[in-house]
Amino acid sequence: MRKRIVAGNWKMNLNNSDAQALFESLNSNKIVSSAEVVIAPPSLYLSEFASKKGQQICLAAQNCSDNDNGAYTGEVSASMLYSIGVKYCLVGHSERRQYQNESDVLLKQKVNVLLKNKVVPIFCCGESLDKRKSGDFFQVIQAQIENSLFHLTDSEIKEVVIAYEPIWAIGTGLTASSDQAQEIHAFIRALLVEKYSLQTAEEISILYGGSCKASNAKELFMNRDVDGGLIGGAALDLDSFLAIIESF
Ligand code: PEP
Repeated sequence: MRKRIVAGNWKMNLNNSDAQALFESLNSNKIVSSAEVVIAPPSLYLSEFASKKGQQICLAAQNCSDNDNGAYTGEVSASMLYSIGVKYCLVGHSERRQYQNESDVLLKQKVNVLLKNKVVPIFCCGESLDKRKSGDFFQVIQAQIENSLFHLTDSEIKEVVIAYEPIWAIGTGLTASSDQAQEIHAFIRALLVEKYSLQTAEEISILYGGSCKASNAKELFMNRDVDGGLIGGAALDLDSFLAIIESF
């Protein structure tokens, strides 16, 4: 059975004392869930959290370089992430696509460098409000996935987690309805079946992200093709994040 995952993306939030407090509370809480719990704090905190964390939390970076190592001032490499025990790394979050102009080609390189260094990419895709309204959203998602992932072999794609995050639902309070989420997740899985195989597609976790909160998590997660969530705002509040995790 494919893995269920609830991942909290802290983005560029929480100064040291607040970050430590949230981490300690999560780390010491007895979490009852069938989902793997992942947090993606700012990279500054990863090393310390890696040394303190128990079994029930996994760490994700929010970004990494597309290069191996070397003269790239300000960057963090996939091999560095792996060396401190970081399991996952977000790739292609819409905020990075928008503010850092990250292209499909660059994201493909990041996926490659992560897989080479045994860090699992959480590959984000999703359409803008305009594309949702115009009805072109299937093509947008298909192109994002094809351009950055479909060069991978069968065994490589099985190491990737995909997160569907409609941009119009990120941080806006608007959530894709349970049916809208399932429709896209099923579409993504069908693309994977077509390119790889049913067996491969069934092994790949597809997460939903976009204003997912305690009140809607259960309904979203009960869909056949929704294997968990990528949570932004609600991951900054201990009780909300725990409630989402415990929806599984
Ligand atoms: C995100 O940015 O990945 C996200 C899902 O944010 P939010 O939950 O705040 O919409």
